[in-house]
Amino acid sequence: MSDAALFDKIISHCKEYGFVFPSSDIYGGLAAVYDYGQNGAPLRNNLRQYWWQSMTQLHANIVGIDAAIFMHPKTWKASGHVDGFNDPMIDNKDSKKRYRADVLIEDHQEKIRQKIEKEIDKAAKRFGETFDADMYRSTNPRVMAYQAQIDHCDAVLKEGLETGNLGMIKELIESEGIVCPISGSKNWTEVRQFNLMYSTQMSAVESGEDQLYLRPETAQGIFVNFLNVQKTGRMKLPFGIAQTGKAFRNEIVARQFIMRMKEFEQMEMQFFCQPGTEMQWYNYWKELRLKWHMAMGIPASSYRYHDHVKLAHYANAAVDIEFDFPFGFKEVEGIHSRTDFDLGRHEEFSGKKLRYFDPEKNESYVPYVVETSIGLDRLFLLTLCNAYCEEEIDGDTRVVLKLHPALAPVKAAILPLVKKDELPELAEEIYQKLRLDFPCYIEDKDSIGKRYRRMDAIGTPFCITVDHDSLNDRSVTLRYRDSMKQERVSIDSLHSLLSQATAMSSLLKELI
Ligand code: ATP
Repeated sequence: MSDAALFDKIISHCKEYGFVFPSSDIYGGLAAVYDYGQNGAPLRNNLRQYWWQSMTQLHANIVGIDAAIFMHPKTWKASGHVDGFNDPMIDNKDSKKRYRADVLIEDHQEKIRQKIEKEIDKAAKRFGETFDADMYRSTNPRVMAYQAQIDHCDAVLKEGLETGNLGMIKELIESEGIVCPISGSKNWTEVRQFNLMYSTQMSAVESGEDQLYLRPETAQGIFVNFLNVQKTGRMKLPFGIAQTGKAFRNEIVARQFIMRMKEFEQMEMQFFCQPGTEMQWYNYWKELRLKWHMAMGIPASSYRYHDHVKLAHYANAAVDIEFDFPFGFKEVEGIHSRTDFDLGRHEEFSGKKLRYFDPEKNESYVPYVVETSIGLDRLFLLTLCNAYCEEEIDGDTRVVLKLHPALAPVKAAILPLVKKDELPELAEEIYQKLRLDFPCYIEDKDSIGKRYRRMDAIGTPFCITVDHDSLNDRSVTLRYRDSMKQERVSIDSLHSLLSQATAMSSLLKELI
């Protein structure tokens, strides 16, 4: 199956099994806005919970807050978003489609990267065991030329964005022969900047003076609360403030399902530290965040780091954690060393001192900040892409979501084998007991095989089948989703079995 076909299947699976629906579906949907369904909402809650607990429970020096979406308009002047939160856009005159110029270039680079990998694969087959891929990369003229092309794109893009010379970026698109994916033509407009913030009014009267923005990131809610939290929580440096919540961006090029949405959720943590120690913390968080991803059982080969070439105006180091989606490696999380930029700017714009008194140094200073920022919806998408499997079984295809049991929306399904002989009653008794602690599902319709398949498709890790023997020996058949292995266990042991397998601590313990 091609990657594009796989991605289409994942999208339809999301709709068919109640994970993700287009927003306002009955009206034809709303571009780049989505709703989470009966299985999507709990899976997303569990992912959020995993992040929240790993930040606030596993770190004695990190606390969580929940700031409002609306913020004083000066916030966005101070943060630089009013003047600088722009994307460079370019239109194709034939297809009338609009693109982000930097994304067009990055996609082009990815194609060149794939050509390099193909060359290396071919050479590996030709040379056999003695093949040294690193050596080949640094000596083969064709591979070196491809790499030089990638580096050239990086350099021009960086200079164009940093100096505001958008003409350079258009020239690069032309000289690299980048075509519109729809029309296939090179008939491009100039590159222009476009601000991504949505605005609205505070009062009922539209005066223009009370313009508000829907926050484009959650981070600023943390910065403006730095002093409140530091003082009331008696926090000592280094310490962190975590927050999850909605953010809004007028993404012109919304695509790839929930990858790029206009309304999405971020999970951000700002770690305040002494100036001069930021690189140590940056490296700490860079490593720990990747470990966090892999603790979900996702292989290391699905991830890579991507160091930023063009640093944001506030950063002195930045890296993305990218996941290998069916449409290629793309950013899911950023780790940024933001220096004292944000607190410094808020001091300037608010006139309030945002300093920390360091008792050891006996001086006050503006702390430096290392941020970790992940999109919950992209995390959701990667979780599904990683979990989605099609398996051939006895000439039939089984679709199964191999979700970590701690993340699965339903932990166990209780299934009476038949709808009579008091089996439904015993199933109900088990369900009533287990549902106090675990999200469970009970069903007596259809054959047991069909019911197993429905549970596989939403990633339920355990099916508990109640049969006639259960009435006599108070034992049930426990079926494991991934191996489909079945074993007989006593009804009394179910609670502790589910506790062990589905507890969030089974993920968290990988991180300490
Ligand atoms: P991109 O380059 O893909 O636009 P970004 O660098 O602008 O992302 P950040 O501002 O660093 O993203 O935001 C942090 C995280 O928020 C991203 O890593 C991503 O997971 C998530 N995110 C950003 N924009 C969107 C969006 N439009 N839809 C869904 N998630 C998003």
